[in-house]
Amino acid sequence: MRDYYVTTRPQANGDHEVHTADCAWLPGKENRRYLGRFSTCYGALLAARALYEQVNGCYWCSRECHTS
Ligand SMILES: [Zn+2]
Repeated sequence: MRDYYVTTRPQANGDHEVHTADCAWLPGKENRRYLGRFSTCYGALLAARALYEQVNGCYWCSRECHTS
């Protein structure tokens, strides 16, 4: 299980990115929201989708959930 976060500020394309707690691209406390502990990024992505319409897995830490 890993801790996942979603960015509260969207990317230029409107995506709110989902990151693991240890990702180098995880934003600071003020720009992220804790999603919970999940065994895969898919659960985290679902949780993020409940908060934001447009979500995407981070290319670096959640590549299997990343769509371009
Ligand atoms: Zn990441």
